[in-house]
Amino acid sequence: MEYYSRQIGRLIEELSGLPGIGSKSAQRLAFHILHMPLEHVEKLSASIMEARKNVKYCQNCYTLTDEELCPICRNPSRNRKMIMVVEDTRDLAAYEKTQKYEGVYHVLHGAISPMLGIGPNDIRLKELMQRLQEEVEEVIIATNSSLEGETTAMYISKLIKPTGIKVSRIASGVPVGGDLEYIDEMTLLRALEGRVEL
Ligand code: ZN
Repeated sequence: MEYYSRQIGRLIEELSGLPGIGSKSAQRLAFHILHMPLEHVEKLSASIMEARKNVKYCQNCYTLTDEELCPICRNPSRNRKMIMVVEDTRDLAAYEKTQKYEGVYHVLHGAISPMLGIGPNDIRLKELMQRLQEEVEEVIIATNSSLEGETTAMYISKLIKPTGIKVSRIASGVPVGGDLEYIDEMTLLRALEGRVEL
């Protein structure tokens, strides 16, 4: 990046380190930022800093939040006896967009992948089992339909079955290997309504 001065080059380099941002996009973003009013740039950088510093895991469901409990866990009208297990916070957001799910969530932060060396202890499974000490009627497993998501679903269902709590899996129809966050709300809703007991 020798044709750019040092600070411009550095901005481009930092941006191109972000996922999905190639060098062309990084240049486009950098020059966009350089043309933004200074106060907008200050707002942008402050929001990045504040979120990074203050966002942590919800004490109950482990989604990312800037408070002890996330807004869903704090909401008294949510059904605490129904827990939907998802891989990450973006999956939770995808189900929330359907506005039809009234239960609560549990965010695993990953999926079991023997190939990548990610085992049951590397995701928030222990924490899920702890939550089942309370009164829970159903656990809906909504991990992705990838190999890792299916492996995780099988593992969880085997773990929960002996407790007598109902375990269900969202219906297929969600495309195989599909990331939940890219699937439209109708498809998600159908997958949820057509869930099958494991
Ligand atoms: Zn929560």
